[in-house]
Amino acid sequence: SFSNISPQFILLLMISFPICSFSWPWTSSALPSCDLPIRLRTDPDAVTAASNDYGNLVHEAPAAVLYPSSIQEIVDLIKLSNNCSTPFTVAARGRGHSVRGQAMAGGGVVVEMAALSRNGGGIRVSWSPSLGYYADVGGEEMWADVLRVGLEHGLAPVSWTDYLYLTVGGTLSNAGISGQSFRHGPQISNVLELDVITGKGDFLTCSKDMNSDLFFAVLGGLGQFGIITRARIVLQKAPTRAKWVRLIYNDFTMFTRDQEHLISTNINGPNYVEGSLITDQSPPNNWRSSFYSPSDQSKILSLLRSKQGLLYSIEVVKYYHDTNIDTIDQEVKLLVKDLNFIPGFVFNKDVSLVDFLTRVGSGRDKEEEKSSDRELETHPWLNLFLPKSSIMDFNDAVFVNVIRRHNHTSGPILFYPFNRQKWDDRMSAVTPDEDIFYTLGLLHTSRPHQSDVYDNLNSEILDCCEKADIDVKQYLPHYISKEDWMKHFGPKWDTFQERKTKFDPRMILSPGQRIFTSVM
Ligand code: FAD
Repeated sequence: SFSNISPQFILLLMISFPICSFSWPWTSSALPSCDLPIRLRTDPDAVTAASNDYGNLVHEAPAAVLYPSSIQEIVDLIKLSNNCSTPFTVAARGRGHSVRGQAMAGGGVVVEMAALSRNGGGIRVSWSPSLGYYADVGGEEMWADVLRVGLEHGLAPVSWTDYLYLTVGGTLSNAGISGQSFRHGPQISNVLELDVITGKGDFLTCSKDMNSDLFFAVLGGLGQFGIITRARIVLQKAPTRAKWVRLIYNDFTMFTRDQEHLISTNINGPNYVEGSLITDQSPPNNWRSSFYSPSDQSKILSLLRSKQGLLYSIEVVKYYHDTNIDTIDQEVKLLVKDLNFIPGFVFNKDVSLVDFLTRVGSGRDKEEEKSSDRELETHPWLNLFLPKSSIMDFNDAVFVNVIRRHNHTSGPILFYPFNRQKWDDRMSAVTPDEDIFYTLGLLHTSRPHQSDVYDNLNSEILDCCEKADIDVKQYLPHYISKEDWMKHFGPKWDTFQERKTKFDPRMILSPGQRIFTSVM
């Protein structure tokens, strides 16, 4: 039995013993004497990186960081924790693009999934008569690499995130949403099979028909049930180019009516629909998009001044293949013909599919920038799902009365609809209970000393929803009490809890979500 031995000691023993000698307690000087391939690190560089994320708001130091060289090492780690009288926590860390410490494990072990990555080497494209085209992708791989490898075969996934330098395991633990979700569902709706290491250390393959309880638990499961090591992703023949159109509105009713019209069009409909707000603090071009030319930008800004500082914008895209180059302009014309945007305020671009899908920054460049800018910035984001029935009240209460008047609002403000029928309710992800719901993304960037201003703004918005009794759900959720989590999951809470008991009974996994562990 391991019961009287410190879990950290056992961990180090088991992973290091065949290779090196060690001393206790761990010190950064104990490990460098080990011969590689030792993957467990306690040095300041490893611990500091695993103690931060994109949000730069929560900082929790793990006792150690595992840089796995194989899936078996993660299995061993989780089994080891299970064998301790007091288990240590384990968090998979994709690229740490969470904003509230969700991939941290204070006092536990963070598994840096990137160590498994081989820059796309973990992506294999196949075809079968029953499944069509698909890719088997390591949970640690980034969507940008899935795109690159898929295109080598003329194929691509159908559902994306706006930003592709996120991991497959990380987005499938949430949902993975973007402008394609209305048509294909979120990324979790486009997965055929998973390999998962459960919180008990079992390595299982699951799908809708095999170990289905685990499959549905893990998709949108916030890392609570297992670590995804492989996902089988649906692929389709990739279009080559995209007609990309932006339309400007000052009437919220027209803006949302037109978005809902676009997402209901199936035959010859768009491939992508998103929407956003334009305000003084959230101008047409921002870090997420440099779509407009300087003269178009000035034109929109002068309209903004004449419209009380609040405009709305629809972003709609139609993909095409080189073979239908002659008809695509006509198709786009038809698509926007009956829409009610402000006359003259329609802007077009024609770009390659890759330029469209990689329009939001390059994660690799961002990595290089991180030591300078990122340390000075925090990202107190708020992402919500709102039922369609509430959006008029929400516009009056929040967009018109709070956001438009808020001096500090900064960064893109996204607002666009989904069809709920494209989400599978057996999965852990939660949505409002209406056929159409909207996502709001308040993607704030702030200096550290000002993040309270944004937290207060976020609280004010959530209070407005509470007072108006809006069935709002947080996306990439962050709650601090169990009651809030129970409310978030609503009727799904019991199932969520039962699945936790089944797959991670000792509550080892992803403690940074703060669902089953006390607040850090
Ligand atoms: P991490 O932040 O490292 O992990 C997230 C959670 O998943 C943690 O709880 C972690 O323990 C768990 N986890 C990580 N890997 C695994 C695994 N293999 N198996 C099981 N659990 C795992 N989201 C969208 O849906 N659409 C967008 O368009 C979008 N754009 C974004 C743009 C930016 C600039 C940023 C910073 C985030 C964006 N996100 C978007 C949010 C993103 O989906 C989340 O941050 C998500 O967590 C993925 O990031 P990650 O891969 O770095 O995961």
